[in-house]
Amino acid sequence: MAGRAPQFDYLLKYIIIGDASVGKSNLLLRYSTGEFRSEYQTTIGVEFAAKNVNIDNLIYRIQLWDTSGQEQFKSITRNYYKNSACALVVYDITSRDSFNSVATWIDEIRAQCTQSIYMILVGNKIDLESVGKRQVETAEGQELAEKYEIKFYETSAKAGTNVDDVFFNSAKEIAKRIKDGFYNLQDDSCGIKKGNLQNEEQNKKLDKKDLKKKKKKFC
Ligand code: GDP
Ligand code: MG
Repeated sequence: MAGRAPQFDYLLKYIIIGDASVGKSNLLLRYSTGEFRSEYQTTIGVEFAAKNVNIDNLIYRIQLWDTSGQEQFKSITRNYYKNSACALVVYDITSRDSFNSVATWIDEIRAQCTQSIYMILVGNKIDLESVGKRQVETAEGQELAEKYEIKFYETSAKAGTNVDDVFFNSAKEIAKRIKDGFYNLQDDSCGIKKGNLQNEEQNKKLDKKDLKKKKKKFC
């Protein structure tokens, strides 16, 4: 039975949204496998990826869902947003249009997701700054994030810049919130599931206590 127990303490569901071709699928790919694909593919073939992170000796499994090209139509099925703990709202720093869409995407999250969702604004493709392609200044991204009171990062899925930080720091923040009792974990909509790992350990401890009690009785 132990072999079949999930190897995590908490499962955190993440979603990535933003206009088509801002680099969402490549952020997922970079984070989960360390790869990058330079050719554009509407569907990269990965619907979701999962990766474990260790925070204060607990294992958090980040389950990251990709849009599978649905964003081409500027509306995503409700199923996609369901039960998410964290949403990455991505734009491309070389595309003013994609930055202008951010407000619409954030509104959509607010309409479709639980209030407790942790949102992050991500300006991707910063490697293209060095070739003079930047259209959206860092300060503009920062300002927008401040307006919505969310975290802000600039990343490059191509070079790997800041990609791990986005995921690790958000998981750390969510872990802190779990510890502080911010979520109702009985409610699926919070996008967090408790795994068996912790229970297994607790069970073992309880077993030991029981064993001691029994021994005392029979001595
Ligand atoms: P999605 O439609 O948002 O999933 O975007 P993709 O991940 O499919 O990327 C769209 C295009 O942008 C592809 O040609 C990628 O190779 C390219 N791309 C994605 N991220 C970056 C990045 O950080 N830097 C550069 N230079 N290109 C990127
Ligand atoms: Mg994609």
